[in-house]
Amino acid sequence: MPDHAPTTPGTAVRRHDIVIVGGGLVGASLAIALDGLGLDVAMVEAAPAGALPAVFDQRNLSFAEATCNALDNLGVWRLLRTPAAPIRRIHVSRRGDFGRVELDARDYDREAFGQVVVASDFGEALESRLGELRKLVRYRPARFLESGVDGEQRIIRIADGEGEHVLSTRLLIGADGTHSMVRAALGIPAEHHDYDKVLFVARMRCDRAPDGNAYERLGDDGPTALLPRGDRHYGVVHAVSAADADAVAALDDDAWCARIQDAFGWRAGRFLSAGPRSRYPAQRVLAERLVAQRGVVIGNAAQTIHPIGAQGFNLGLRDALTLVECIAASPGDVGAGEVLQRHAQRRVEDRSRTIAFSDGLARLAANPSPLLRPLRTFGMGAIAQLDAVQSMLVGGAMGYRGDVPALCRQVRA
Ligand SMILES: Cc1cc2nc3c(=O)[nH]c(=O)nc-3n(C[C@H](O)[C@H](O)[C@H](O)COP(=O)(O)OP(=O)(O)OC[C@H]3O[C@@H](n4cnc5c(N)ncnc54)[C@H](O)[C@@H]3O)c2cc1C
Repeated sequence: MPDHAPTTPGTAVRRHDIVIVGGGLVGASLAIALDGLGLDVAMVEAAPAGALPAVFDQRNLSFAEATCNALDNLGVWRLLRTPAAPIRRIHVSRRGDFGRVELDARDYDREAFGQVVVASDFGEALESRLGELRKLVRYRPARFLESGVDGEQRIIRIADGEGEHVLSTRLLIGADGTHSMVRAALGIPAEHHDYDKVLFVARMRCDRAPDGNAYERLGDDGPTALLPRGDRHYGVVHAVSAADADAVAALDDDAWCARIQDAFGWRAGRFLSAGPRSRYPAQRVLAERLVAQRGVVIGNAAQTIHPIGAQGFNLGLRDALTLVECIAASPGDVGAGEVLQRHAQRRVEDRSRTIAFSDGLARLAANPSPLLRPLRTFGMGAIAQLDAVQSMLVGGAMGYRGDVPALCRQVRA
């Protein structure tokens, strides 16, 4: 990575206060949250205008209460065209074990722990809200190539259909996902772990409509989760070992329904039909640091975690909102070292606890050893008994961990 400006003499340089790379779930949310600070913000996104980035697919996103509050305050919630489905109860069980955890939002004086939204619907709402921003400059389709430092500026090279362009900014924000090129350009190493599982996601219909229950069923091959959707379907996430993934992908719909019935049991009813399946590798990629000189990574670029805990975007949004608060609190140089260090410090607790929660759940769910079965059963039973542990689960499910950004706490009207 060159530590100098990667420019060629005579190239026109476009200046912005902040350049965000990545207009996915977190980058788009960040751009919206930055609006109103009076800054010149640019967003570089590989997907073309008129098409949502591929990440806005059919996956179901469970939004914690803190996330719903923030999205409402950001003016995104009102733009969702399909109603979100509330999660009123969470039910965790393990195949073959008697212990289980049942959490009811009413026991915590809440109507719901969170809401389920389909990623493509969320993408459309974000896009509508981005369209309302007056000042945001969008480079799309355009790809980030590399970056170096020149005095108090980051110099960035991007490429679009017309060729290469050079941008100059006080702060480069990498919201470019798991395989972040910004992270690499900032010289931030990342730790990679492959859970050796593949997650299949599909919309499924049962003979009973969803009634506010979200289920997590732990099996020897990994978890199967059912999330209520706003269209009378469940969103199913089913983990299989990587070695079995191709065979599962090849199943016809009847065989797939039978497989989910077997993995999940009958608690939600009989599975009748399924929509198209998509597949994702289960992996964990953790940036060793969040900040570098005039650069920061957020969202999946900072930490990609196992989807089992449904925490990835919830956590990434809190990255984005914390960064905005740190920038807003220090008028002047938005990319100054103190601003970035303050952000990094504020993210420590939430980040480490959420990563540990998701990773612990993934490992507990994935370990097939029969020797661990009594321990897991005991674990489930014990969790069901312990108020403190339940509170921790609930706090995480609602998104209130560590130093919570103000927009997450401001309750919706
Ligand atoms: C099956 C599944 C279920 C999930 N369920 C949940 C859930 O219930 N709740 C939850 O909170 N999270 C969930 N997640 C996690 C969530 O999807 C991620 O945390 C979220 O997508 C991260 O957003 P991001 O913006 O950081 O990255 P991404 O969404 O990956 O966006 C990155 C963006 O950067 C762009 N980009 C990449 N490289 C470049 C480049 N060089 N130049 C320009 N642009 C670039 C891409 O086009 C993309 O638009 C789930 C994930 C999976 C796989």
